[in-house]
Amino acid sequence: MSRIESEIAVIDTEIAVIGGGIAGLSTALHVALRGVPVVVLESRQAGAAASGVNFGGVRRNGRALAELELAARAIEIWHRLPELVGNDCEYSVTGHLKVARNDDDMATMAAHAEAQAPYGCAVEMISRNALMARYPWFSDAAYGAAWCASDGQANPRLLGPAFARAARANGADIREHEPVAALEKDGDGFLLRCDSGLEVRARQVVNAAGAWGARVAGWLGEAVELWPMMPQMVVTEPAPYFIEPALGVVGGDVYVRQIPRGNIIFGGRSGTADLDEGFGHAMTEEALGALQRTALVIPRMAEMNIIRLWSGVEGCTPDQLPVLGPSATTPGVIHAFGFSGHGFCLGPGVGAVVAELALDGETRTAIDAFDIRRFQS
Ligand SMILES: Cc1cc2nc3c(=O)[nH]c(=O)nc-3n(C[C@H](O)[C@H](O)[C@H](O)COP(=O)(O)OP(=O)(O)OC[C@H]3O[C@@H](n4cnc5c(N)ncnc54)[C@H](O)[C@@H]3O)c2cc1C
Repeated sequence: MSRIESEIAVIDTEIAVIGGGIAGLSTALHVALRGVPVVVLESRQAGAAASGVNFGGVRRNGRALAELELAARAIEIWHRLPELVGNDCEYSVTGHLKVARNDDDMATMAAHAEAQAPYGCAVEMISRNALMARYPWFSDAAYGAAWCASDGQANPRLLGPAFARAARANGADIREHEPVAALEKDGDGFLLRCDSGLEVRARQVVNAAGAWGARVAGWLGEAVELWPMMPQMVVTEPAPYFIEPALGVVGGDVYVRQIPRGNIIFGGRSGTADLDEGFGHAMTEEALGALQRTALVIPRMAEMNIIRLWSGVEGCTPDQLPVLGPSATTPGVIHAFGFSGHGFCLGPGVGAVVAELALDGETRTAIDAFDIRRFQS
């Protein structure tokens, strides 16, 4: 679709996307489905950064109210993945439990459940006795829970590549190992210069650079505070399947899911990362500590053997809401980064929203709370 002009590798396109995580790939697919030329420029491999290494939670339970409409739009797309990208990405509606440790947690979650209801998100409060009757494998540390039956989980390793394949099949030009080094205005549009020497001319640009999104915004003179968070994930050897729902404990230091093949995936505190290097590094001591903490809530975890751990880098904003919407300094640029630990669930919907912004100038989904101007005084 895009035109290669000469041997010095110049591409002309309508929309250039910086970053091939789920935000950028889903944008590419939704733009390509409208028949509009789009190029994705990804430093590494499509879907290999945060989008490919996360926990796999697809949930609305306990989510900030400002994100609920976008999450609902995303979940509607999650249900249509087989027809949209030819793969269900192991998406499964297992429900999600947010587990309380005390009365205060229960009261906070009950108030949030009430606030979520008008958004069509049904959350049921479960007493300790009811929780133990349903899930006898919890310890006494589980005091009760908020239960969202419509939540689920999926395999993050499958999602990005599935969107990349579908976007390519619909005409998107997805270029891997192609870091963008500079972005400048060029007449009515933009010129993107890649480390390889490739130049891309585009009428619009989407900044979907994840934890690196503030660097790209900085090229446009837009200051955003974005710090890297490096959650660490741990997986056990296969065990008989017993944890059907995905779950997290209030406070965020324990979250667990088990896949039907038997492996249990759980949060292992934090790894380390260097944004210039681009990778997260896992830390064994942290993982062992996390296993002990998880076993306080699910005693059977103490018997499990860890087989693998990893970490990834995510961009976190001060209010833990994404930056999603038009640039405040540069018409023609749309930001979609800083998902603050929630972007795997949201990703399929983010692309639909960005495609509408780019092609229609507006979106039917509420995104005002994500405006970049909230950080600019
Ligand atoms: C360990 C972990 C667990 C998580 N668990 C969950 C969860 O359970 N549920 C949930 O909803 N979310 C979760 N998240 C968050 C979720 O993974 C992210 O919010 C989401 O993947 C962000 O997608 P993205 O496309 O914005 O970023 P990324 O997937 O990071 O993609 C951004 C891409 O931009 C590329 N890039 C950056 N700069 C440039 C440049 N100059 N040129 C070219 N390419 C560039 C990068 O290489 C990268 O591939 C978790 C995150 C981590 C790290």
